[in-house]
Amino acid sequence: MNNYDEALEIIKREFREIKLLTEEHDLYDAIDRVIAEDITADIDLPPFDNSAVDGYAISYSNKNEWKIIGEVSAGNYQTYQLKPEDAVLITTGSKIPITTDTVIPIEDVEVDGSILRLKKNVIIEKGMNIRPKGNDLQKNQIAVQKFTKIDSKVISVLASCGIEKAKVFRKLQTAILATGDELIPVNEKPTEDKIRVSNIYSLYAAVKELNQSPISLGFIKDSKELLQQKIKEVLDTNVDLLITTGGVSVGKYDYLKEIFNEVGVVEKFWKVNIKPGKPIYFGVYSKNNSKKLVFGLPGNPVSSLVTFNIFIKPAIEYLYKLKTINSINAILNNDLKKKDGKRHFLRGILEQEGSEWKVISKFSQSSGNLVEMSKANCLIEIVEEKRNLSKGDNVKCILI
Ligand code: AMP
Ligand code: MG
Repeated sequence: MNNYDEALEIIKREFREIKLLTEEHDLYDAIDRVIAEDITADIDLPPFDNSAVDGYAISYSNKNEWKIIGEVSAGNYQTYQLKPEDAVLITTGSKIPITTDTVIPIEDVEVDGSILRLKKNVIIEKGMNIRPKGNDLQKNQIAVQKFTKIDSKVISVLASCGIEKAKVFRKLQTAILATGDELIPVNEKPTEDKIRVSNIYSLYAAVKELNQSPISLGFIKDSKELLQQKIKEVLDTNVDLLITTGGVSVGKYDYLKEIFNEVGVVEKFWKVNIKPGKPIYFGVYSKNNSKKLVFGLPGNPVSSLVTFNIFIKPAIEYLYKLKTINSINAILNNDLKKKDGKRHFLRGILEQEGSEWKVISKFSQSSGNLVEMSKANCLIEIVEEKRNLSKGDNVKCILI
């Protein structure tokens, strides 16, 4: 049986093979998408020498008194030929008049009619408060690198470079199918031994949170024929990923592994030495030069969401080369039991206490407890060789 690191590596290897398609979107619609090309600056940034403050532009000398001969405000440049004794009022961001080289901040001067005087003890330096043209970036240099996520910081750079439409990578079409005889739709009240299908909703949300395209296929009974037909059908569409839940363990009606094999999915692994989520299946379906990746997640609501977070999420982030901060170290606030050699991913609640992060894990850790899961904001990762942990230990917390 593979351990966690090996299994994740196998998944990443297959994700590396995915050929990401591209599409164009207006800048606003490209938010949170990953840019598919290097963007070079078509102009110098900033495009002209400009003032960093509100003040007075002068030509540097030993003087401490000048004559104000006019003003330049942002967007309203006027040409002035300044003599050494002249000054021009200038606002932040305004283009620096030719023949001036220094801006004195408004706080450092006194104005008396058209006379400008330096306040006592103020020292000025040549070139102060000028943001030179091209200081941020020069024309033809790369402003935004391919594989950068378009967020609030990056989008303004694109706008400054005149990018109206951005070429971004397409989202992964991710089909989600739940399996199980016990499942009923959410608008029905469970009778006897039925439960409302909840997994597809959490996985749908998780796919969406990663800015990919979820496609809910609902749920299907544990019937070999129905399952085979449905899975064949899905694999014939243009989905990139297929995520199923349930039916992948060793129970009498856990048919999925067998069915994947029958329809031509090549198994890459089944079962990983982790808790929860041990029976996870991963396979690859190849057709017409394209590959579809197939994840059979366990049906337990906690296991399916945990395995999504520890396998599929990092693989998608790897594919798009995203530099997401996924984990932080925290001090454990209670003792934790671990008796086996599996890698554990325990639900925890991270809280900041002063300058420290503390994590509490008081959950029952039962894979069936959805409400408990909903309160967690991290998974405490405990590696194979570690056993019981004590309050005060440092632990890695994967943010969820
Ligand atoms: P399985 O992986 O099919 O053995 O299912 C494990 C447990 O998860 C069982 O208790 C199922 O009732 C439950 N389960 C399976 N599928 C779902 C689902 N889609 N939503 C909620 N619970 C599920
Ligand atoms: Mg089942």
